[in-house]
Amino acid sequence: MKGLADKPSYIIELLEAGVTLDDVIDGHICEQTLVEKSAFVVGDLGALMQQHACWQSTVPQLQPYYPVKCNSSPAVTQVLAALGLGFVCTNKAEMNMVLEHGVPPEHIILSGVCKQLAHIKYAARNNIQYLVCENEAELSKISRLHPSAKLLLQLTTEAHAAETSMAIGSSLKSCRHLLEAAKEQGIEVVGVTFHIPSSCEDLQQAYTHALSDARCVFDMGLDLGFNMNILDIGGGFTGTEFQLKQVESAVRPLLDAYFSPMSGVQVLAQPGSFYVASAFSLAVNVIGKKVVTHCWDSLVQGENNEDTEFLYYMNEGVYGPFSRKLVGNSIAAPSVHKRGLCAEETAYPSSLWGPTLDDLDQVVDRCLLPQLSVGDWLLFSNMGACSLDESLSCSPQLPVYYTVSTSDWYEMQEAGVALDSAMKNFSMVQPSFACPFTKYYAVAHLTVFS
Ligand SMILES: *Cc1c(COP(=O)(O)O)cnc(C)c1O
Repeated sequence: MKGLADKPSYIIELLEAGVTLDDVIDGHICEQTLVEKSAFVVGDLGALMQQHACWQSTVPQLQPYYPVKCNSSPAVTQVLAALGLGFVCTNKAEMNMVLEHGVPPEHIILSGVCKQLAHIKYAARNNIQYLVCENEAELSKISRLHPSAKLLLQLTTEAHAAETSMAIGSSLKSCRHLLEAAKEQGIEVVGVTFHIPSSCEDLQQAYTHALSDARCVFDMGLDLGFNMNILDIGGGFTGTEFQLKQVESAVRPLLDAYFSPMSGVQVLAQPGSFYVASAFSLAVNVIGKKVVTHCWDSLVQGENNEDTEFLYYMNEGVYGPFSRKLVGNSIAAPSVHKRGLCAEETAYPSSLWGPTLDDLDQVVDRCLLPQLSVGDWLLFSNMGACSLDESLSCSPQLPVYYTVSTSDWYEMQEAGVALDSAMKNFSMVQPSFACPFTKYYAVAHLTVFS
């Protein structure tokens, strides 16, 4: 392992049998309650392996390439690298991190619509040959700085354009020009990539268009003498087995028809959220509360038109771990971490805000929650994708507590995740928790160095 020796990058707590993630969260809440009540994140590394098992049993024909932009924490990279995934990077820092975790350069793709010159040079110096390209300006940069690159042409899809409200990728017609230009400049083209986001409503139609377009580009490429052998169908997997099966049943007949296993075409996908979303939960503290009463004139005489809404302010918002709200994603309502919550408690319309008092800093618009008090904790699950990325987050980084259950840990080792090459310190811990009421404890701290 290259890199900074002896600088621990993170600690994993190995959980005793019977200790759940909720227990761990309870423990840290209890700990935080005694100090600053800072928000924190709990990451379950076993969930990454469980998702990988689900991927392999449902879509064994699709080789997973993890897009680092979804969650670039070193623990995620380390586990996914050990499970044998490939990686999709968008810049030099991501390529550098992935290489430092021992991923071979032939399992790395440099993606991105317009890449900085220094990043293309870095890829060339480090033998990263697969580069995504979607326009002629990019092609000439690559031919100048990385003439031995192997290109994947980014094909546009309606669903991707709709989500980003920007034309990403190249149309079929522009693909022909690109292929011809690549031929002239002596750059190799080896395949096609496209992306259909999970917000897409008609999967069948989207994949039908994208895969038949990809077939056309393959044929044009073959005509020009390129050895077209990589098809990348992008991301868009939410993380549930159900949705993965839906994509599989939309895609499989099309792959059989256009890219049969006999054709020697290697088929990749870029599951990002799929791997990381469910592995991370975020705990935030309620720091303020307001009650507003909306009244309006009734059309029906005598009807009660009062509506009480609770506004809660939390110690993190859209300028921190909820940044994906700013780019149009909605955040699901949290669960309430409560002292002996009774099941029957009345729920009230509530909205959840970040701490800035800024109009944009609304995290959850309207949801039903029991009445909360200042000091209560809220738990947001499925926070693994894009929420921990430093570049998206303006607040200082939140503490992340990594855990793995003992049984997942053994399973991971059987699956080949030998973090031990990086592990210098396996210390048994005593249950020395400051909180007398928590039953949570870890059996060991695995200190991982990278
Ligand atoms: C973000 C992104 C992904 C990952 O998408 P998920 O839906 O999180 O799997 C894959 N491909 C491209 C081009 C992306 O921009």
